[in-house]
This record gives sequence, C-alpha cells and structure tokens, in this order.
Amino acid sequence: MDMSLPSEELERYRFVDRLDDAIRDLTLPQDLCDAATRILRQHLAADWCAWIPADDHGNTPGAAFARLARRGIACAVDNVGDMGEIAAGADAGALLAACRERGLRAFLCAPAAAGWQGAACMMVGQAAPRRWQAHELRLATAAAERCARALGHARTALELRGAEERIRASHDYLRLLIDSGEEGFYSVDRDGATVMCNAAFLKMLGFAREEDAVGRKLHGLIHHSHPDGSHYAVCDCPIYQAARDGVPAHVKDEMFYRLDGTGFPVEYRARPVWHNGELQGAVCTFSDLTERRRTEQALRQSEAHLASVYAQTGAGISETDLGGQLFRMNDRFCDITGRSREALLETRMHDITHPDDLVHSVAVFERSIDSGVPCELEKRYVRPDGSVVWVNNTMCPVSSVQGGPVDSMMVVSVDISERKRAEEALRQADRRKDEFLAMLAHELRNPMAPIRAAADMIGLAHLDPERLRRTSQIISRQVRHMTGLVDDLLDVSRVTRGLVGLDKADLDVKQVIAHAMEQVRPLVEEKRHHLTVDLDAARAHVLGDQKRLVQVLTNLLNNAAKYTPAGGSIHLTMRVSHAQVSLHVADNGIGIPANLQPRIFDLFTQAERSPDRSQGGLGIGLALVKALVELHGGTVRSESAGPGAGSDFIVTLPRVAEREADDAPQAGQDPALAAADRRRILVVDDNVDAAQMLGMFLEVAGHVVVIEHDAQAALARAASGVADVCILDIGLPEIDGYELAQRLRAQPGTAGLLLIALTGYGQEHDRQQALRAGFDHFLVKPVDAATVLALVSEAR
Ligand code: ADP
Repeated sequence: MDMSLPSEELERYRFVDRLDDAIRDLTLPQDLCDAATRILRQHLAADWCAWIPADDHGNTPGAAFARLARRGIACAVDNVGDMGEIAAGADAGALLAACRERGLRAFLCAPAAAGWQGAACMMVGQAAPRRWQAHELRLATAAAERCARALGHARTALELRGAEERIRASHDYLRLLIDSGEEGFYSVDRDGATVMCNAAFLKMLGFAREEDAVGRKLHGLIHHSHPDGSHYAVCDCPIYQAARDGVPAHVKDEMFYRLDGTGFPVEYRARPVWHNGELQGAVCTFSDLTERRRTEQALRQSEAHLASVYAQTGAGISETDLGGQLFRMNDRFCDITGRSREALLETRMHDITHPDDLVHSVAVFERSIDSGVPCELEKRYVRPDGSVVWVNNTMCPVSSVQGGPVDSMMVVSVDISERKRAEEALRQADRRKDEFLAMLAHELRNPMAPIRAAADMIGLAHLDPERLRRTSQIISRQVRHMTGLVDDLLDVSRVTRGLVGLDKADLDVKQVIAHAMEQVRPLVEEKRHHLTVDLDAARAHVLGDQKRLVQVLTNLLNNAAKYTPAGGSIHLTMRVSHAQVSLHVADNGIGIPANLQPRIFDLFTQAERSPDRSQGGLGIGLALVKALVELHGGTVRSESAGPGAGSDFIVTLPRVAEREADDAPQAGQDPALAAADRRRILVVDDNVDAAQMLGMFLEVAGHVVVIEHDAQAALARAASGVADVCILDIGLPEIDGYELAQRLRAQPGTAGLLLIALTGYGQEHDRQQALRAGFDHFLVKPVDAATVLALVSEAR
C-alpha cells in the first residue's frame, strides 16, 4: 500500500507545521492573526488574506464574510461577478460590496469550527478571477482552525494573567488593610503554629519580621497570663481552644508579654476559622490597653478629685435642666436651702427663690442659657421654715457635647447671709450714729437755753439777791446736767473699750440695792410710782465693784421710772440660787417694741420718742449696764410683751458662797446686819410712797421697819414698844412732827426713843424748833442714805 501522502496533503502538513511554529509563542491575538494571515497569503500567493472574527456584527465589509462564515459554509468564489450559486441564502450584495471595496475579484471563505461566539473565518482574496483548488480551500480551513485555536489559547492565557493580577492586587490590599489597623492580628493553625500576622502584632510583641513568627508556636516565644500575672496551662489558653476546639473567646483583661519579657495589658478575641465545615485554626485580634488604662486611671482620679471638691467645698453646687428643675446637688446646697436631697430633686430652682427676687433671677437664668455666658447673681432662697438665706450664685451654662448647645445649668451658691446681715447692721449703725449726733446736739442745746437766759438775766442791772440765787441755781443745775451727759459719754466709751478696771470686793447685793434705791428715790417719788421690793432671805454675796453695780441697778430702776407713766408700779426682786444672784426689775410702763428688743443693749439705741424728748438720755445707759454686768461675769436680758405691756430687765451675777452653812436662810434675821446692829424703826410720813421708799431702804439695810401715815397711829404703835428709832416727817396733817415728838418724849414707854426729824424745810430756825421739840437729829429732804444709816445705828 502506498503510504506516501499525496503531495497536497504533505504540503498542508508542512504549511500547518510552519504556521504552528510561527504562532506558538505569540501571546497577543493581533500578533497571532497577523502572522497567520501573512503566512497563508504567502503560501497561496494570494493578494489579500484576513482573519474575520466571529463577533464582526456591524456593517463593515468584513461583516458580510463573517455572516457567511457563521453559517459554517466554506466556499470558493472564482469570480465575484459570477457568484450566483454560492450566494444563495447569503447576502450577495453585501459580499460583492466587500470584495469591491478591497478590489477583489475572487475569494475563499474558510470558517473555523464554531466557538462560543459563533464561527470566525479566514478569508483569502485575489485581485483577478482565480480558479481555486480544493486543497487550497482545505489549507485555508486548516489555517483558520489553527488560528482560532491559538487565539482561544491566547485569550485564556490573557484572562488568566488578568485574574492573577486581580488576585495579587486584592491580596496586597488585604495585607494593607490588616497592616494598617492598630489592633494586633495573627492567625494560627490547629496546632497553634502562626500562619500570618500583621505589622501591629510585630511591633507590639517585639518581632523584627513576620518570618520570625510565622510557622512557630507562639507559646514557645511569648507568654500571656491572667491580669494578676499568673500563667495559663497551655491547654486552657483561649486562643488554642479556639484553634483546636472551635470555641470562640473574648478576653477583656489579660497580660501579653513581649519577646523581651515586658508585659502589657490587652483585650483580645480569638475566633475559630472554618473552611467547608473543617476547623482550620483561629485568628486572634488584640488591643494594647496601656493607654486606655492610663486614661481610665486619669479619668478615675479626676472624677474622684471632682467628687471630693463637689462634696467638700464650702459652696453649694447644684445642677438644673433648662427649665430650672434640680437634678443634682451637693450636701452644702441642701444645708443652704434647708431641704433634703429627695425634696430638692422634686423642686425647681424658681420654687425656692424669694418671690421678690424671682423675676430678676429667672431673667438672668434665661439670658445665661441663651448666650452660653456665665452670670453672677445675688438672691434669696426661702427655707421651708420661712427663714431667708442670701446667696451669691454663679450660673454656668453647661453643654454635654463640646461646642454643642447648652443643656443644663451648673450653679455655685455661696451663703452670704452673714455679709448681708453685717451690711444691714452697718447701715443701721450708720443711721443710728446720725440719729445720735442729732440727738446729742439737741441734748446739749437744751441746757444752753436756760444758761443763756440766765446769763442775760445777770446782765440786767437790778437783780435782787433771791433772783440772783435762783438764777445761779439754774446755771449750776444745767451745767450739772451737761456734765452728766459728757461724763456718761466718756464713761461708756471707756467701759466699752475695756479701759475701766473694776475695784472688786466681796459685796452684799442687798447693800447695792439699798444704794441704788436711794439714788432713784427722788425720781420715783416725783412720778408717784409704787416701788416694791422682794428680797430672797438667803445670803447674796458677789465679787464686784460696788460703785459699778450700784450704777447698773440705778440705770435699770431709773429707766423703769422714766419709761413708766406717773403712778405706775415698779417691782424689784432679788433671788439667790446656788451659783447666781439675780436681780429682776419689772415695770408696767410703756414697754419695748419688738423691733427694738434685739438691740436694746446696743449703744445709742432708743425707741421712737415724742419730739420734745422729755425723757432725756442718750441711749447709752443700757449699753453701760451690759458692759458692766459682763465685766462682772454676769448676764443681762430684757423681756417685754410690746408697747404698753411693761418691761422686765433681768441681771444675773455669779454668786460667792463663802460657807455652806451661810447658804441657808436664817429666819427672822437679816444676814446683812449682826443682831446687835439691827434696829427697830418706826417711819411716819403721810406721803405713802415716800414712807415706803424709806422703809424699804432701811429694811434692805437689815433693820426692822414699821410704817405709819398719821400721828395718832404712830403714837399708838410706838407705845406698843415696836421701835428703837422714830423717823418723823414734820409736815403731818392734824398733829405735826414737832408735836408728835413732844408727845413721844412725854410718854414713859417712848421717851427714850431716838427721834429723827425729816423735813423739806431746811432753815436754821426749823432745825432749832425740831431740837426743841425733842428730836435728836434733823434731816433735810432729800436725805443722804449713809447719813440716815449712821444716825439710826446710834440708837441703843
Ligand atoms: P436712754 O434711757 O438714755 O435713752 P438707755 O440705754 O438707758 O438710754 O435705754 C435705751 C432705750 O431703751 C430707751 O431710750 C428706751 O427706749 C428703752 N428702754 C430702756 N428701759 C426701758 C423700760 N424700762 N421700759 C421701756 N423702754 C425702756
């Protein structure tokens, strides 16, 4: 059998070989087409050869060939002018136009086997009619198929390269993502060997390169432990458990250790990695908590600091919403407003504001919120008990978001009540000072008028001696009055400045009372007051300055007499307790208005007076009383139910108890006088008050007194032997003092009594008459207390 190939076959093989060699290494489709068409054209000695791709759908001249090829028809046209039989079903017109355009008169169309886009074809053309051979058509078809296959491979290779590049880019991007995070990231396989890790991991754990970690079991290189530093058994490690057993973990507080052994706090998550239902290992992401811990610690410290400032500051701090509703406050704010925290949490700031301050307070509050600017405001809060507290409020609008709108108001309140009171006191003191100066001017001018009138009188030529005497008396009385005022002023200034030294001695308060009563007697008598005295029988000794304590009591009694309308009652009580002696001066006079009571002992304080200031005084008596009593270690206070209700003044002094035995009251015996010095005295005066005043004074001094108001009764009383001494007023009705004395001297039982005359008439002849009538002594009213006591003590 002839095994040799026919020559056309051989030629085709050679041609195909040559074609394969030429296009094998070409990767770009265009290069490939160019090479294939060039070789085919040369081989067939054709004028034109082109590769018509299957996707040439448009109206290009090649599209007509492509449409032919898609039908899978290989054809050879020897002369395009005679295309009748092959053109059946094909678009002969379009084919003809395509050939004309390329100047072809004959062509071959060899389609390749149809691919996914349809069939492409190899076209060969000749400028002149050509009689195509069958093997030439087979050759062109073989070339078309080779070309189509090679193009398919080239395209696949291109796509593969593109896909590779995309995969690499996406891998690089992923890597970038992983490395750009601040969290450490690494993955381990099921045995715990590191698969990959990111830059943060390397940096945080101290690795220089990824290769140093990859493939190694981390437990061999670095450690992690519980927050307290105690180590895990490897089997308990949450990262291993995730990798080996598929158990995810979120650990919030742990220590990781670097390669150099130093530790840092971390939070981490370990997540198992599954693929097709198979556990591959785990990924672990972790954050270094050092900075967060530091910030948290700083925040905690700052919060603690703030809380302690909040709690311990002397200022009240509160916070309200924009409607003024309180929602936070410190203890001091509760103190200031006098309310519990629970009560305040139910309260609006405006509800506790004093009604008179409300409008202004709300306006400032709202202005501060609108402008976002802090404001200061002085206002009053009203406490539940009705008392008022003054505060200085600094209002600070607060925004919970920096730069955001105001959403609450922080208020810092400082209690300024004390300052406000001081300011008010200062204002009042200033006003009282002005009033005092006006009054002082008035008081000093008052005596000037009579002095001046007297001076004018003396200037008159003929002034009889009696007028001259009365004028001189007026001048000295007024000068005495002015001197008294000035002395008082100097005295109070010395006492209140502590410049007065006390001449202290063991004193019997009853003596003090006796002297004071003696001093007020003229005024009490003048105003026809009823003065009663109630003395505790117990020993009443204090350590004090007699002159000053008499001054204290005199002041109180004088005031009682001054500020009680004529014919009033004044009651002096002395009580003794274990540690104190108290003196109580009560009157039923004009009383003290409530607004005056708190400052009645202040200097220059006086109640409203009638314009003529008939009572006199400079408002310094009680200030002196207080200063002097306090110098004695005592207290003084006043009580009055108000105008017209009378007044009480109570002085207490520390008592000196010499011996226990002395403390017991001794019946029938006045402790002030020894029995031998005590006298029984009959006082006779038709002026009831005068008689009582004298009687009380003598009683206070320790004597036993009986009083009578007319001569008959006195005679009878004296005859009954009740008296050692008789003090007789001369101006008695019916039987006058002279006659009474004579009758007493005439009666045997009374002849030996000590008789003392008491009269308003002080002429020498009056005195002589008294002595003739049988009196032992003659005294002119007002009598000096010491003189009476001295004379009384003469009686046997
Ligand atoms: P002065 O009597 O010189 O005004 P004081 O200091 O003694 O000064 O008294 C101060 C004021 O206290 C008096 O002006 C008077 O208004 C009031 N006062 C003092 N004692 C009494 C009293 N017994 N009854 C009513 N008011 C009194």
